[in-house]
Amino acid sequence: MGIFKMDADLHLHTHFSDGTYTPEALARSALRLGIAALAVTDHDTVEACESCEVACRAAGIEFVPGIELTTEWEGQELHFLGYGIDVRHGELLAELAQFQDVRQQRVRQMVDRLNHLRVPLEADAVFALADCRSPGRPHIARALVQAGRCGSMDEAFDRYLKKGRPAWVPKRRMSAGDCIGLLHRAGGVAVLAHPGLCRPEAPYGALADAGLDGIECYHSKHDGRMVQRCRAIAERHGWLITGGSDCHGDSKGRPVMGTVRLPYEHFVALKSRIPAAHARIACSAETQATRDRG
Ligand code: AMP
Ligand code: FE
Ligand code: FE
Ligand code: ZN
Repeated sequence: MGIFKMDADLHLHTHFSDGTYTPEALARSALRLGIAALAVTDHDTVEACESCEVACRAAGIEFVPGIELTTEWEGQELHFLGYGIDVRHGELLAELAQFQDVRQQRVRQMVDRLNHLRVPLEADAVFALADCRSPGRPHIARALVQAGRCGSMDEAFDRYLKKGRPAWVPKRRMSAGDCIGLLHRAGGVAVLAHPGLCRPEAPYGALADAGLDGIECYHSKHDGRMVQRCRAIAERHGWLITGGSDCHGDSKGRPVMGTVRLPYEHFVALKSRIPAAHARIACSAETQATRDRG
């Protein structure tokens, strides 16, 4: 008889940002893959959290509300994951609404740039395809592929959308320090996302001073060496260890959910830091379910 091993996936996107899965599909996939706990971390929105919580509870999977925010530190882009945030927090929601507005304007600006490059595309076609408040470059890339303008999403990024390519427009970023503060005020913990993708290396000392709580050690773009490096950094600073697949559904080729598994003990440590938020979302989801029945 084997030992029953439990894992978590704490970095997942839904169709509320640039993923393709519904919250319900995430819960179903987790069940199929034997994942015991998950968090959704959409870009600039928490809209998936309540329905994901309900779907997870029905499936017997533990759930933590999350978000992914883009920040900058001295000109360098850093992504942060917030966990256990209050998804009804006024200041957080006001900030997210601004980020979403800027994302929508940015889609128009990138489409304008494409049009100037004689690539016909309409912003409304991108919005229709994205069908969310937090649209981004993957939606434009998908629209270009659907229109037959590019053979693949990679081609769309390489030719037009990557940083420095002709249709690229920078995203609104908050300072790393402000982001950590906002996540804390919203009742959550702040975790540096995929440090293996940071060039140059992330400013760990400064982030520790700013109150960072954790570091994403396990990620689909981290090899074994990077995982070990991140774990050593976590130990040095007394940080939480998190991890997840960063699965975007089918939007980047094969779904990677299940390929990265955070050992459950790290999820337990994370949970111990966010008990209040846990109670809060479970409670609000229950109210929602009662409303739906009534
Ligand atoms: P945005 O938030 O609009 O700047 O878009 C960034 C998103 O684009 C990230 O979530 C990436 O996962 C995604 N992305 C980056 N490169 C590619 C690519 N070659 N194909 C598909 N998605 C990509
Ligand atoms: Fe994304
Ligand atoms: Fe990211
Ligand atoms: Zn992500």
